[in-house]
Amino acid sequence: SIEEVEDKPEDLVSRAPIVTVMGHVDHGKTSLLDYIREENVIAGESGGITQHIGAYGVQLDNGQKIAFLDTPGHEAFTAMRARGAQVTDIAIIVAAADDDIMPQTKEAISHAQAAGVPIVFAINKIDKPDANPEKIKEGLAQMNLLVEDWGGKIQSHDISAKFGTGVKELLEKVLLEAELLELKANPDKPAVGTVVEAFLDKGRGYVSTILVQAGTLKVGDYVLAGKNSGKVKAMQDERGNDVQEAGPSTPVSILGLDGAPQAGDKFNVFEDEREAKQIASKRTQLQREQSVRTQRH
Ligand code: GDP
Repeated sequence: SIEEVEDKPEDLVSRAPIVTVMGHVDHGKTSLLDYIREENVIAGESGGITQHIGAYGVQLDNGQKIAFLDTPGHEAFTAMRARGAQVTDIAIIVAAADDDIMPQTKEAISHAQAAGVPIVFAINKIDKPDANPEKIKEGLAQMNLLVEDWGGKIQSHDISAKFGTGVKELLEKVLLEAELLELKANPDKPAVGTVVEAFLDKGRGYVSTILVQAGTLKVGDYVLAGKNSGKVKAMQDERGNDVQEAGPSTPVSILGLDGAPQAGDKFNVFEDEREAKQIASKRTQLQREQSVRTQRH
């Protein structure tokens, strides 16, 4: 059934942090995500990540991993939260050093705080002649957010997303923050997680990018995601490679669902295909009834 069984402490193993990048428009969220995506090449694999599937995993030189939600902006973050999905472990908030702390910087901060998600600040565009990272840090201090350079506990790093300066160190700080969170999950159970995005691909059918949060998803598993269900026919990683299994904190795109679930929908694996289908059709029916009711009022 859909209820989650509580894990025994001895079944839990460390998992990679799941990170969202937020910040004011034009402050460099996309550039940062692109830089990380393009530069990070897992040892032994040629080429960077070519696919845009809404999430990707990277591995640093020391072997540690980070999963990124590749949907910059807090719209995706709030949409997911509105659906009850708590996916993000750490928020990187990008603030351009040649600008002030802007309204969406503040919004991003409040969203992260409301979700109880620790923040690592990326003070960006330090390559620009008029960049003044200290001004940003001062602005943060005025909001009671003291970064380490200012004697506080909040991590921040000066970067240039355009040239990659400081990005490695930024990610090391993200991993330090992750260590404090002691993120763990049980990989030895049917997978549960959240839908990141889904679309209809001509030729491949419905492609859904999901983030496995606990358990391990396997090809052949029967999945229920929101109002959609189906047997996982194939799975691919962010490099377009076929994979047979995906463990905790792993983003994968899956083929085989009978429709496109919504970002933020939870997914579960069912042993009984019929049960999954029943729940999916019940959800569809409930939604139909609700929309009829709202139309009447
Ligand atoms: P977003 O709206 O937050 O996703 O911002 P973008 O990543 O699209 O960046 C907005 C603009 O700032 C683009 O023209 C980028 O090329 C530029 N930009 C981003 N990061 C840097 C940086 O570190 N240095 C410089 N000089 N420009 C940057």
